[in-house]
Amino acid sequence: MSANTFPSYRGQMQYTCLGCGQTYDIDELHYTCPKCGDVFILENITFDELKQTSGTEWRRIFDERASTKNTALHGIFRFYELIAPVMDEEDIVYLGEANTPVIASSPALNALTGATTAYKNDGQNPSASFKDRGMACAFSYLKALIRKHGWDEVLTVCASTGDTSAAAALYASYVGGALKSVVILPHGKVTPQQLAQPLGSGAIVLEVPGVFDDCMKVVEHLADNYRVALLNSKNAWRILGQESYAFEVAQWYDWDMTGKCVFVPIGNAGNVTAIMAGFLKLYHLGIIETLPRIFGVQSHHADPVYRYYAVNDAAERKYSPVTVQPSVAQAAMIGNPVSFPRVRHFARQFEAIGGKDSFQVVQVTEQQIMEGMIQANRFGHIACTQGGECLAGARRALEIGLLSPDELAVLDSTAHQLKFIDFQNMYFQDSFDPSFGVTPDPKLSNQPELIITPDQKTALSPEEYTLAASANVVARLGLEKK
Ligand SMILES: *Cc1c(COP(=O)(O)O)cnc(C)c1O
Ligand SMILES: [Zn+2]
Repeated sequence: MSANTFPSYRGQMQYTCLGCGQTYDIDELHYTCPKCGDVFILENITFDELKQTSGTEWRRIFDERASTKNTALHGIFRFYELIAPVMDEEDIVYLGEANTPVIASSPALNALTGATTAYKNDGQNPSASFKDRGMACAFSYLKALIRKHGWDEVLTVCASTGDTSAAAALYASYVGGALKSVVILPHGKVTPQQLAQPLGSGAIVLEVPGVFDDCMKVVEHLADNYRVALLNSKNAWRILGQESYAFEVAQWYDWDMTGKCVFVPIGNAGNVTAIMAGFLKLYHLGIIETLPRIFGVQSHHADPVYRYYAVNDAAERKYSPVTVQPSVAQAAMIGNPVSFPRVRHFARQFEAIGGKDSFQVVQVTEQQIMEGMIQANRFGHIACTQGGECLAGARRALEIGLLSPDELAVLDSTAHQLKFIDFQNMYFQDSFDPSFGVTPDPKLSNQPELIITPDQKTALSPEEYTLAASANVVARLGLEKK
């Protein structure tokens, strides 16, 4: 089989409810269990057949496919057999997602933090966040459904902290045809870049006052009562696509996860779920021999998952939503994560194999998140605030003895720096609302300096102006003549 050949293997997938265990056919688009309302995971019930192929053979197949020119296998579906082996080649939507680079931190940054870190830049996806991984899978599935049922109109709806809607709108605009995209955003709570993206993709953008959790309630009401396709992370197809992050991390490190820790910011908890699920699949197929340790990271302003796991005795743990406070990690500012049951489900499996410290959640402050972002980027990274949160999380884990400097901390920059640039501006201009609790360190601030005024420019001839401006630059930099 050439690296360009689309696989002939087909699995048999079903939705499994994490609440009551009921299973459902994938012919229908389900979000939550019609019987008990809990969330689903999508399972390939013939997964064990994949074990007939050895771990070595799988590694060879995936490594070979890394050179494919077939776009259907170029993105998340390089790992087709592990993701959604029910799709046909013609339904696969590829917009350049996945295969994002892993960049080892510079020695200077490692010296500063004391940790050994690397960033996987998921901001280098087409809509500049990891959400594209999940959308590639969800839209491929939708295309298959539309083709199968001959539907003439499907309205995709999502509530968003910004990046989900950017990704959904992008993929919907590409697929077009029967697909129409509607996004529901918390008014004033997404960055201008994140608002511009769905507008630019031609989606219908509806705003409601409040925070993400308020939008989510509206969307759920719609999904329960009307014919719409919900694209929030309750949509289990998205989780499947996001597993590709784990596969890529493992492949990048030649399938050797010993001594590696993967840091992930937690908002709605879909991503951390997907990453755990992905590593578990690799482990069960013998593609990796050890699981990495997973660290979820949450801000003290939105930390329900941290609070749950902070209780040491598993029997004493009790989940309760929190009311969020303003967070620079705005994409993770969620008080009642919909995927919490999924986290619990996969964390248990992780702990059963890797031991108690194989899944942990650390808490960081808003101050630390901002400093994480700014320091990472001062050493050549392109981290968003959530990426900064991961660096802060690694420092925190080191400080409290959960991480050793000998381990490699792989940090998820879940979006591109530029999407969250307003927070950098607030830091540099010391203009944070007090509710964030961020006091900028003047040493980390950076401001443009006007070296000659417009008035001075007007008063001078062009030649004089060039000389005067240059003289000011020379003075500012203390340049010496050659
Ligand atoms: C969605 C998002 C998160 C949070 O991921 P969850 O799956 O909701 O936990 C973090 N960072 C960015 C940039 C995001 O867009
Ligand atoms: Zn159920």
